[in-house]
Amino acid sequence: MPEPARRTLVHGGTLVTSAGVAAADVRFVDGAVAAIGALDPEPGDALVDASGCFVLPGGVDFHTHIDAVFRGSIRTADDWRTGSAAAAAGGTTTVIDFCSPGPDQPLAEALAGWRARVEEQGPLVDYGAHVILVQPGEERLAELAELPGLGVSSVKLYLAYPGRVMSDDRALFRTLQRAAELGLLVLVHAENGHAIDVLVEEALESGEVEPEWHGHTRPPLTEAEAVSRATALARLAEAELYVVHLSSERALAELRRARADGGRVHGETCSHYLVLDESLLIGAPREEAAKFVCSPPARTRDDQAELWAALGDGGLDVLASDHCPFVLHGEKIVDGDFTHIMNGLPGVEQRLLIGYSGVERGVYPIERLVEIASAEPARLAGIYPRKGDLRVGSDADAVILDPAVRTRFSAETHHSAVDYLPYEGMEVPGRIRDVFVRGRAVVADGRLLDGPGDGRFLARATRSGDPSALPASDEGDTP
Ligand SMILES: [Zn+2]
Repeated sequence: MPEPARRTLVHGGTLVTSAGVAAADVRFVDGAVAAIGALDPEPGDALVDASGCFVLPGGVDFHTHIDAVFRGSIRTADDWRTGSAAAAAGGTTTVIDFCSPGPDQPLAEALAGWRARVEEQGPLVDYGAHVILVQPGEERLAELAELPGLGVSSVKLYLAYPGRVMSDDRALFRTLQRAAELGLLVLVHAENGHAIDVLVEEALESGEVEPEWHGHTRPPLTEAEAVSRATALARLAEAELYVVHLSSERALAELRRARADGGRVHGETCSHYLVLDESLLIGAPREEAAKFVCSPPARTRDDQAELWAALGDGGLDVLASDHCPFVLHGEKIVDGDFTHIMNGLPGVEQRLLIGYSGVERGVYPIERLVEIASAEPARLAGIYPRKGDLRVGSDADAVILDPAVRTRFSAETHHSAVDYLPYEGMEVPGRIRDVFVRGRAVVADGRLLDGPGDGRFLARATRSGDPSALPASDEGDTP
């Protein structure tokens, strides 16, 4: 006998989608949005009252590092179970993470291994992968043609960290050329690794070892230069570029210039650059300052204001988290100077509410929050409108946000496995009340529900793909 349809009617809320803001009910049937409008309950509907609340598309986080290994052996604090729990609790129902192939490992093999590991851990949200390339040669570049068939439509290069993961300008330019042919999006970590290395050496020679020197040795010009170079090379290759984690006004200005010049360039900033600033590191005790070390570093309050404004005016396209948590003692902080502190912060759980604080302060309207936190990352990922929006036929990924309640961030209550929070004690307007992944409640009344993770790998369309053809999720053999 066929199972009865799973039906939910979310009623009485204010629906926010790419089509605008309106009082509307939404019906989910079997994991998809079946109807939107003034809807009467029908037999079999589970009723969810969203009165006084916003109903948003589930968040799409374009930049997370869950269960990732850095510097050869240091693993981020979250596995896919805890990392996806943190995402879900924070209203994010899709994450695009990273597959990092070994030096001589074929991309297809690396991706199969990555997928098997993620599936085994039972994530609560749907997921995809960008593939990281390190100084790719011609053999590796030839393999890029396989990526679209494997459900991957983006690659990432680092212009920082020479000797570890950096790619030089030839590798970057050749990748851009290949990506342009294949319709792949190229992500860059834009900082000038060589210049930073010199500044670090000079600081250490002068005896500067404290965490604040992580920031002093990565000034905004090292970021702006890399943005300028990457955007110019992308233009030359006629490729589409995405600059991850923009942190400074100077770098943003380079991005704006490239766009005004006609470049197909997209920009992301991350929640921490909007609320953390360099004063948290300067003069602070080592143990405290280390909590805020990330690359690029937290900047000034003026930079923050520019980033908020750019999210509002379209100068930036995406608000991501760059969730990259390290256990504070023994992983994030080890003995030695500032270069030994792991770069990266947790944030997947706080991203959406930090973004919502911009709505509360009047920086941008709530429909713009849906663009930067859901719709645009879904478009860039090649999963829109299945993800990132609520329209008939979309996956029933939704968030009920209660604007009347405030949330206080704390490591005591968050769902990540990491043992600290750079946002400890911060209070923001709004509360993530309910979250649905393909129609199934994963958060109800602010509480994460126990249950089997059935997050699915998302096969993503390339930038040159047919946008009317909805990419299917690969359901594999899992029920
Ligand atoms: Zn990152």
